[in-house]
Formats: sequence, structure tokens, C-alpha cells
Amino acid sequence: MTLPKAPTEPKPPRGYFGNITDTVVSTAKGMALTFRYLFRKKVTVQYPEVRPQLDERYRGIHYLEQELCINCDKCAKACPVDCIEMDATRHGKELEWHKFQLDYQKCMFCELCVYPCPKDCIHMGTEYSMVSEDRSDFVKDLLSWTGLTEEQQERIEAAEAAKAAKLAAKKKAAEEAAKKEPAEGEAGAEDPQA
Ligand code: SF4
Ligand code: SF4
Repeated sequence: MTLPKAPTEPKPPRGYFGNITDTVVSTAKGMALTFRYLFRKKVTVQYPEVRPQLDERYRGIHYLEQELCINCDKCAKACPVDCIEMDATRHGKELEWHKFQLDYQKCMFCELCVYPCPKDCIHMGTEYSMVSEDRSDFVKDLLSWTGLTEEQQERIEAAEAAKAAKLAAKKKAAEEAAKKEPAEGEAGAEDPQA
């Protein structure tokens, strides 16, 4: 009984012309594959000069519409890894922003911070490039400005002026009412004698 040959048994060595034939055949096969892809739609881009086309629902680095944000903290509370920190001082209706930081060393791009926002002002963007040798660079502040803008200062001053005018008018009305009361009292006292 003859045993079947082991599949790993090496092929017998090719001769001089056999080697030339193998080289020509394998080169032709490789070039045929290359030419096939030469006329197909490209799937690679010259990054970073050319940026890849991303899906609309791509979850990249966040962006904040600061003018809409009300510092309610709901996004931070929804974050499962506590990577959002914010701080702002309220001046009536205006917010003086100090920080709105996101720690991308912890963030897992789950998007859970986006859904509870009552103002729909925190979003996941399409930016994804974040390269640094310094860990502190991965803590990003999403604020477009800090402190108060000129418009906010004007609105605060206008609101304070309106409040002061209201108080002054109230005080004046109270003073006039106080002046009238004794005059009416005097007139009421004269009537019975007449
Ligand atoms: S994407 Fe997820 S992990 Fe990142 S900040 Fe939002 S809730 Fe937190
Ligand atoms: S949930 Fe929205 S409105 Fe509230 S602090 Fe976060 S981003 Fe601002």
C-alpha cells in the first residue's frame, strides 16, 4: 500500500527555462491585477492634503453653540465617564463663561451627552484629527469666548438701568402717596367743623 504524498512536500526544482516562465507568468498576473484597479473608483486619498468624505452621523470631536448654552449641566450629568466640566457666572439672563472642557483622554465618543441637551447646542462634529505628545492637549475647551462679550455687557447695563429706573419710579410713587395721605387727613378733619 502506498501512502498519499504529504501536501507540504516541496516541488521539485525548476530548470532554467522553467524559472523564466514562472517569472513572466507571475509578473503578468500581478500587472493584470494592477491594471484592473487602475480603472476602478479610487478608495484611497492623499491625506492630509485631501480629507476623506465622512458620513453625516460620524461622531468626531464635539462642538458647542455657546450662544445657546444655558449652563444646565445636563450633558455633563449624562456622560458615563465624567469627562465634561463647565463653569460660568450668571448675571441675570447673561452667562459669563469660564470653561467648558472635555477630556478626550476619557471620552469614548458615545454621543450620550448630546441627547439630553434642552437647547440642542452640543454636537458631535466631523473633526477627528487629534495628535499630540502632550496629554494636556487632549483636554479641549469648547468655548468660542470666555468672560462677557461687548453685547452681553451692553445688555447687562441696559437691564441694570431698567431695573434702577423701575425702582426709582416705585420710590417716587411711594413718596407721592405718602405726601397725599396727610393732605387728605387734614381735609377730612376740617369737614365736621363746617
Ligand atoms: S461622547 Fe460620551 S464619553 Fe464623550 S463626552 Fe459625550 S457622553 Fe461623555
Ligand atoms: S446640556 Fe446643552 S444647554 Fe445644558 S450645559 Fe450642556 S450644552 Fe449647555
